[in-house]
Amino acid sequence: MKALFLREQQQLSLEDTPDPTLQDGGDVIVRVTASSICGSDVHFWKGHLPSIPDFILGHEFVGEIIEVGSQVRSFQKGDRVAVPANPFCGTCVNCQAGRVNNCLTVKGMFGAGLMMGNLPGAQAHYVRVPHADACLAKIPPSVDDKAALLVGDVLSTGLFAIENGSPRPGDNIAVFGAGPVGLCAVACARLFSPAKIFLVDIEDYRLEVGAQLGATHLLNPERVNVVKEIKAATLGVGVNLTVDAVGLPSILKDCITCTAPGGTVSVVGMGTASLEFPMMKFMLKNLTLRGGLVPLVNMKRLLTLIEEKRLDVTPLITHTIKLEQIIEGYHMFADKKDNCIKVMVVP
Ligand SMILES: [Zn+2]
Ligand SMILES: [Zn+2]
Repeated sequence: MKALFLREQQQLSLEDTPDPTLQDGGDVIVRVTASSICGSDVHFWKGHLPSIPDFILGHEFVGEIIEVGSQVRSFQKGDRVAVPANPFCGTCVNCQAGRVNNCLTVKGMFGAGLMMGNLPGAQAHYVRVPHADACLAKIPPSVDDKAALLVGDVLSTGLFAIENGSPRPGDNIAVFGAGPVGLCAVACARLFSPAKIFLVDIEDYRLEVGAQLGATHLLNPERVNVVKEIKAATLGVGVNLTVDAVGLPSILKDCITCTAPGGTVSVVGMGTASLEFPMMKFMLKNLTLRGGLVPLVNMKRLLTLIEEKRLDVTPLITHTIKLEQIIEGYHMFADKKDNCIKVMVVP
């Protein structure tokens, strides 16, 4: 099969490599029918995220099961499935408690190399998926690959970002960052019937996609004072929930400033290892700070919402390319060429 490797010196290389084989009774082999390029893939490529090169990239994908291990009970050949970015066993103490992103058995994600589980990635024709019964979700027949593609990572993260604030109908929500995760957070925010959804980004084309997904107020910090605008539109108090989908110190500070007393700041953008924290403001406003990496336990729920046409994030998949063109796709995505937001890669 063909697969995209990260080689030494931050080189991307599309190469022929042997097809994966079953290694354990709980494994399945998935033929990848669509994958996507994630910000984390770009971070591995550019060396912003540590990794030991010589591995196949990619952790966002859907596909069809073509081989089934002897212990797999819930899936068979021919099933179309969505796959979580980080597979999990379902039986360890963390999985049993719902903290599947901290699975003690798998400890890693697809396409991240030796430092994170050593699971070959999905920017390839085939992938071995361990613990299939625990972690896969069947795609309903009426849902196509494009609609299902993001449930295993960024769409789940968007829902997680919003659920962190337990929003109630009529609340106001602000999302900072209109990248794929921020846009998915906007789409998920709408499921909770907020009064207003503010979306903040310096790229107007991304804000416009946010409007399609449900953002009611589009704020470009290059043109307006975001904090002032949000305060002015919320009787001076701020919103009930802010989502930081960027991960920069200045954004977290703005989130804390824009959150109403008693509200929640939900951080899903990962950009800084440590930062100065405005503790006094946080204390005086009785805020809650939540965040982290998503436990991928809501994939079936999201697929149901997609099937029932209550949720559709396909507008943020702006480009579709063939696997042969994937290196171009990396450049297009990383450099935001041609108003690129998310790239779907097909075999
Ligand atoms: Zn991702
Ligand atoms: Zn586990």
